[in-house]
Amino acid sequence: MTTIFWFRRDLRLSDNPALIEAVTKGDGDVVALFIVDPALLASVGPARSAYLQATLSSLNDTLGGALTIRVGAPEDVLVALAREVGARDVFATEDFAPAGRRRDTQVAAALADADVTLHLLDSPYVVKPGTVKTKAGTPSKVFTPFRKVWELYPVPAPLDAPEGVRWQHLETAPLSNVTALSATERPDYFGDLPDRVPAFDPAVGERGALAALDSFLPSVAAYDEQRNQPGVEGTSRLSPHLRFGTIHPRQILARTDAHPYGGTTGSLHFRSEIGWREFYADVLFANPTTSWQNLQRSMDHLRVDSDAAAVERFQTWARGETGYPIVDAGMRQLLTEGWMHNRVRMITASFLIKHLHIDWRWGAKWFLWRLIDGDVASNQHGWQWTAGSGTDASPFYRIFNPVLQAERFDPDGVYVKRWVPELRDVAAPDCLQPGGGSGLLTPAGYFPPIIDSATERDEALRRYDEVKVAREAAARP
Ligand SMILES: Cc1cc2nc3c(=O)[nH]c(=O)nc-3n(C[C@H](O)[C@H](O)[C@H](O)COP(=O)(O)OP(=O)(O)OC[C@H]3O[C@@H](n4cnc5c(N)ncnc54)[C@H](O)[C@@H]3O)c2cc1C
Repeated sequence: MTTIFWFRRDLRLSDNPALIEAVTKGDGDVVALFIVDPALLASVGPARSAYLQATLSSLNDTLGGALTIRVGAPEDVLVALAREVGARDVFATEDFAPAGRRRDTQVAAALADADVTLHLLDSPYVVKPGTVKTKAGTPSKVFTPFRKVWELYPVPAPLDAPEGVRWQHLETAPLSNVTALSATERPDYFGDLPDRVPAFDPAVGERGALAALDSFLPSVAAYDEQRNQPGVEGTSRLSPHLRFGTIHPRQILARTDAHPYGGTTGSLHFRSEIGWREFYADVLFANPTTSWQNLQRSMDHLRVDSDAAAVERFQTWARGETGYPIVDAGMRQLLTEGWMHNRVRMITASFLIKHLHIDWRWGAKWFLWRLIDGDVASNQHGWQWTAGSGTDASPFYRIFNPVLQAERFDPDGVYVKRWVPELRDVAAPDCLQPGGGSGLLTPAGYFPPIIDSATERDEALRRYDEVKVAREAAARP
């Protein structure tokens, strides 16, 4: 009997256990399905939807043109398709994010009513969210103890792509629906912020993911040292591939371990960063409201600005015109590439929250909208970590100084000059200073600093004191 394989965050054929199950449970005839769900695409900006469309096009090529695209609510599409091809079983990789879990519960019920079973297997992670527990048997809220347990789990050897599959060629909707139906829910505070589609590395899809990994691995030994330097190509850039599952972290770990530099300090650090992704997925699974709610509810008392002046400051930040060169460089990289270096994500996020006093949720929304790797677990918890409202002991009062960060991690201004052309003729360290110059001189075309960082740092600490007072009052019997 024909089975349906529903591709979601696993847009690959190799090391895809759920796909193998779909092939072996049926008699070899498989429908390869992707559902364009307008509800899900509404909050996806043009950059990520274009990246997704390009990835699906690559998957379709790998399938010899057999990818079936259908548009609509997944429960409606699947019930109709199962009827159309006479399928009794739908297979998919399990989704652990809150919206995906809600959707899958609805889909399973609708399919069951039609006498069709939804089989959810595997996960986009090495260890399924919800598996790692503290000694007390509870989910972990601190990374290091999580990692220590997570690392003990064996990593299954990656599986080959299934062979001899008879992919069914069915009537299919145009792929262009993905971009056409995305980005319909643009928040008002984005105003007229530019929303360009980046020129992607042509190496999208499964083959692109392996190529990215192979080109990164020769430098993995230096990862430890280079990963914090935004001016150096020292990280893997695998995040968009992990986001859409064109590679599974099992494959990354296996290939890294097998590499001559596997086992070096750099390679172990790289493994631990993959662990951060798994940690945040686990935290979100255990605390599903934290997509948009503070994990530490006492931070609900933090006073944030949201008036017209705050909207103006938010947009200045998002356009990369704050007059703080490292912040502007990061925000312009996001506008141009739909991606930003991790160190600069932390600096720009800290600046928005602690120097502009804007709610982390506005920044998280813009990042999720623009990032081609936009992922609800890593993004929201990356923001909450910076805001001091999330996991680990990352207190609010640890405030990144944008100039010191630039001097430490981009001392020659390589990254700043790449993204802020107005500063190309200014020598470091001047090009890293507020306004991009020494003294009061702002180089032509660049921006004077939007705020004084020392003054706003004090203001942030004052607001944090209010949180502490409210927290202590709430704790009093
Ligand atoms: C405010 C903020 C928002 C973020 N939003 C996202 C997001 O939407 N999507 C996303 O994938 N990552 C996000 N990150 C994490 C991190 O910045 C990116 O994963 C990383 O920059 C991707 O580049 P890379 O693939 O070259 O990473 P590498 O350094 O090569 O790391 C390999 C992989 O490990 C994982 N990883 C590395 N660092 C982190 C981290 N701090 N948290 C979680 N996973 C990590 C990623 O999957 C990454 O691809 C965010 C971080 C911050 C501070």
